[in-house]
Amino acid sequence: MVYKPIGKRRILLLLLVLTVLSALLFLLGRKQETAAVSANSKTLVIDPGHGGIDSGALGADGTRESDINLAIALKLRAVAELYGQENTLIRQDDSSKCDTEDYSEHRDLECRTALVCAARNPVYISIHQNHFPTAQAGGAQVIYASGTDSETLGRITHENIIHALYPHCRRVAEPAAKKLYILSHLQCPAILVECGFVSNPSDLENLKRPTFQTSLAALMMASYLQYLQNTVRI
Ligand SMILES: [Zn+2]
Repeated sequence: MVYKPIGKRRILLLLLVLTVLSALLFLLGRKQETAAVSANSKTLVIDPGHGGIDSGALGADGTRESDINLAIALKLRAVAELYGQENTLIRQDDSSKCDTEDYSEHRDLECRTALVCAARNPVYISIHQNHFPTAQAGGAQVIYASGTDSETLGRITHENIIHALYPHCRRVAEPAAKKLYILSHLQCPAILVECGFVSNPSDLENLKRPTFQTSLAALMMASYLQYLQNTVRI
């Protein structure tokens, strides 16, 4: 199934609206009230991959994937709140989800999975950056868990990001491999967004820029809202 990506004008308009709203909220000095929660409403669970002693992939200049993931996730949470979408963030700082003394990647992933399952009607978006031994590989790719809802959210998100930010990228959204622990253990709609390659100098420069991070966050939110419109019947 092909989803119509949102146009560049709509993205620019969305970013303009977000900027104005952010300024207004700053001036008012208060947080946006979240919309009334209905029994059917979803919780957007935002997971900035890695954190703490696990930095994830490293850019040639030492940039840590975990830091980029967190920066984008915080922006996505801000956008979610502006749109009155119930949400939760798996980590809000540079930390892992299990104690440093007995840290293991597996335990960290188990903890993250449990946190997703604890949310009410969760829809899971995991944020990561890609890495490849050669510098040429670039662009974004969305991986989705099994199930129609995951595939729908994954394809919408992938096509919107590629259309707006990586128009020459030929990658396609793909189902998750079994080795991806969280995506293969969740029953709820779940996707993982590889926002770009930290091993690609051009991608890395973009991924470090707050405006590019905001664009990614806005596109993820637009895709989430498009997904809800397509799939949720209240
Ligand atoms: Zn990662």
